[in-house]
Amino acid sequence: MTRAKGKGRKRAALPKELRGKGPVPAPTRRDPSGKVHLLVQQDPASGSARVELSAPLFEEPWQNDVASSAASTAYLALNAGVDVERVVALTRHTMDLASKLADGLIDRAANGSVACQPGCDHCCHQSVGVTPAEAITIIEHVRRTFSDEQRQELAERLQHAHERTRGLTSTQRFSPKHPCPFLDSGRCSIYDVRPLTCRGVNSLDADECRRELRDAKTRAAFLRSGVGGRAFLEPIRATHAVSAGVQLGLSELFGLDMQPLDLTAAAHALLNGGESIPDEWIAGHTPLEAARGGECVEDATSRALRGARS
Ligand code: SF4
Repeated sequence: MTRAKGKGRKRAALPKELRGKGPVPAPTRRDPSGKVHLLVQQDPASGSARVELSAPLFEEPWQNDVASSAASTAYLALNAGVDVERVVALTRHTMDLASKLADGLIDRAANGSVACQPGCDHCCHQSVGVTPAEAITIIEHVRRTFSDEQRQELAERLQHAHERTRGLTSTQRFSPKHPCPFLDSGRCSIYDVRPLTCRGVNSLDADECRRELRDAKTRAAFLRSGVGGRAFLEPIRATHAVSAGVQLGLSELFGLDMQPLDLTAAAHALLNGGESIPDEWIAGHTPLEAARGGECVEDATSRALRGARS
């Protein structure tokens, strides 16, 4: 990873633990088709830097603004050096921002139209995609905050879920038989560090969610239709935009592997003897490659849901 040098640059407001000292590397990594999605713009007068998209990623202009702002945050946060601690702090900051954005949008929905309530866990029975940065942040949180007993219980749930879901498609994973291993008595046990994708998910009809998951005939018809449940789309699109900006920032500007992983497989690897994985990943390797799964591949419906340009 290259790190450019310089001094006296102004920075956007970032939490103290994310503030760095020096300026930043130029884009270094292209996607498989050879494209560079981010452009680093330096203001010669002020010396401040920001990251812009080389071309829109989303149909909605506000999503592109959110994505470039998230990429700028990543750029400014890691410009003094890339290490696990900084990436975890950045990821937690990004998770908080995504929640503020999504919750603010949900608050603006017509009164009572969003049906989600604490303890309602129908949407937690499917494959969940995370980046390596999110998976590492989640397991760092588990190691730091869970008791030995809680960690042991989680390890058992992860082992069980990993054995039962390995190799299944996302359609097969959408089932009451496959609860997310982080569900504990109907609640998310990692709520503060839950994946970005979980933060925007919402529903306009909780009973519809229940039937689509738990009634076999309704579930089969729902999966055949290829159309998502009725939801308020803006929070979903907001979290996807944040995620896209951070993914591009860390991969293009800092050379980190940010390809989506399956949450269960990645957490299982990290919690079971994976202490060296975060450092290997920071060094530019792909130690979580085996946790990439077909279940993370997007279909046309999910692309449309998140407002992506095709
Ligand atoms: S991580 Fe938490 S919110 Fe996301 S699917 Fe699992 S239990 Fe649900």
